[in-house]
Amino acid sequence: MIDQLAGIIKEYRDFYIMTHVNPDGDAIGSLLGMYLALKENGKNAIPIIGAEFPELFQFLPGSGNTVIGFDSIGFNPSHIIVLDVAAENRISPEIGDLRKSAKLVNIDHHPTNPLYGDYNYVLPSANSTTQLVYEILTRAKYRLNLDVAKCLYTGLVTDTGCFKFAGVTSATFELAARLLEFGVDNYDITRKLFEEFPESRLTLERLMIERLEVLLDGKLVLSYIDNEDYHKLGASLSEGESLVNRLRETRGVEVGGLITKLSENQYKVSLRSKGIVNVATVAAALGGGGHSRAAGLKVSMSREEIRERLIRLIDSSLNSSTT
Ligand code: 5GP
Ligand code: MN
Repeated sequence: MIDQLAGIIKEYRDFYIMTHVNPDGDAIGSLLGMYLALKENGKNAIPIIGAEFPELFQFLPGSGNTVIGFDSIGFNPSHIIVLDVAAENRISPEIGDLRKSAKLVNIDHHPTNPLYGDYNYVLPSANSTTQLVYEILTRAKYRLNLDVAKCLYTGLVTDTGCFKFAGVTSATFELAARLLEFGVDNYDITRKLFEEFPESRLTLERLMIERLEVLLDGKLVLSYIDNEDYHKLGASLSEGESLVNRLRETRGVEVGGLITKLSENQYKVSLRSKGIVNVATVAAALGGGGHSRAAGLKVSMSREEIRERLIRLIDSSLNSSTT
């Protein structure tokens, strides 16, 4: 499949590049990395996003070239390259009738990805989708540059939690080394990603900590943030990204979960596990998905019902792991 994809980006000329709703560093890094590499190698590519470009990633090269939605674009690409998107309904914005005129290339590392593309390169063992983008670009013998490397490195540090999470191997560091050789400044990237948050994020974190509940004998920590909180602080939803990680940092905690209210009866849930509980399975039971240690979902239920369902699902997962 990787040879086939390398062949596609060499042979064809016009591409849309897309990623998921609420894009994180891997989503944006792969979107912009693929976009810049295609441009560098003489292709026409348009990176499409569903909503305003997240402020956190505006320092990345190519961020100013992203286009919101498809309106008024007279462009008929042969392929839509979809990066880091676990399920077709998470592609942002919705692609509607585009699938009739263009082939969908699904490049991802989520184990729950149902292979919704015309071409699917889904490798759950990959640390990040940017790793897969790098592999395809190098297989195509594409010329890379510092800007591409910055974007791909951003995805790698984001999805490995700065090389901290499970799944990091010598190959991860080899890829990091290849990317740094282009001249990427590691601290420049990690500082911008992790040490330059707006003050409102600190307030969101305080709210999350104040409201947390320790459940299931200290194995589960749940908390919540509401759209009204974001609204009051003038904060964007992307500022809440990665806050959930704090909830599993305590000894004995197996799962941290953050319930974010998006609108009346519309919630987003982020789950993080240390390993015993497969949160991708928990999320899938409620219509979501993700990785075994990081998963999420969107649901229309009350917060109380979500809380009850999560406690029950995680409790039974913990119990089945000890028997
Ligand atoms: P986060 O908690 O950072 O939003 O998401 C964690 C992981 O779960 C990500 O890898 C993300 O792709 C996946 N995920 C989050 N929300 C959903 C969802 O609604 N559906 C699916 N299938 N995956 C999700
Ligand atoms: Mn990813």
